[in-house]
Amino acid sequence: MLADTISPGTVKTEDEHRREICTAGRWIHARGFVASTDGNISVRLDSHRILTSPTVISKGLMSPDDMVITDLRGRKLAGRREPSSELAMHLLIYLRRPDINAVCHAHPPIATAHAAAGLPLNKALLSEIVLSLGCVPVAQYGTPGTPELSDALEPLVHNYDAILLANHGVVTCGGDLLTAFFRMETVEHFAQVSLASELLGKQVLLSGPDVEKLLAARVRYGTTTAAPVSSNCPVTSDTVAPGAERISVTREQLEALIEEAVRKDRAHR
Ligand SMILES: [Zn+2]
Repeated sequence: MLADTISPGTVKTEDEHRREICTAGRWIHARGFVASTDGNISVRLDSHRILTSPTVISKGLMSPDDMVITDLRGRKLAGRREPSSELAMHLLIYLRRPDINAVCHAHPPIATAHAAAGLPLNKALLSEIVLSLGCVPVAQYGTPGTPELSDALEPLVHNYDAILLANHGVVTCGGDLLTAFFRMETVEHFAQVSLASELLGKQVLLSGPDVEKLLAARVRYGTTTAAPVSSNCPVTSDTVAPGAERISVTREQLEALIEEAVRKDRAHR
């Protein structure tokens, strides 16, 4: 039986990294973040080698010797299996972000639904998300397993630790595997809360000053994230365009509004 733990940090033996990728795979599978053989997980072993989950295997059923070692161009250096065609997306992140040592890619359903709807998770709805991720943009659609996908990600990888992939899924990264996994879990949880509040018909966003205070706390807590803050990331109650905020009315209120409009219209004839 494999130990079901991932420890923080990157100072580990190659065997430990292999076991931890298996653990991350089981966690991602158990939480329903992938179906069938979807998803892939990798860690940076050193300046020129990546250890990655293989293609065509359930991420819940991997064993340490299933892992593949490649160089930063994706050429296989060791392993009896083959790397995923989606590895290019991981390699792009490792090449552009020296601070990143682990990447997770999965298709968690509610976050992926946002990706399919072209909706970024960019509202200042939850203080924890402002602290940890800032916001989660949507990368344009690119055919999986082709350079299109990496090209679509390229403009975003410098500034975000979690990205929705249009009509596809989610990619997260971190200084270590535990962080990259937690970010995947956080994105799906945020997507669920965001959807539920949308269904409730009301979202009360944090204000600009609220977000400022959280950003000051981010520095105080030493939270490391690449996420920048700009006028629309995250979207606060101050930055919602006037008239674009969603409101809900009862049937009675709606009927009264229509009646009133019809009455005024008749009075002017
Ligand atoms: Zn995928």
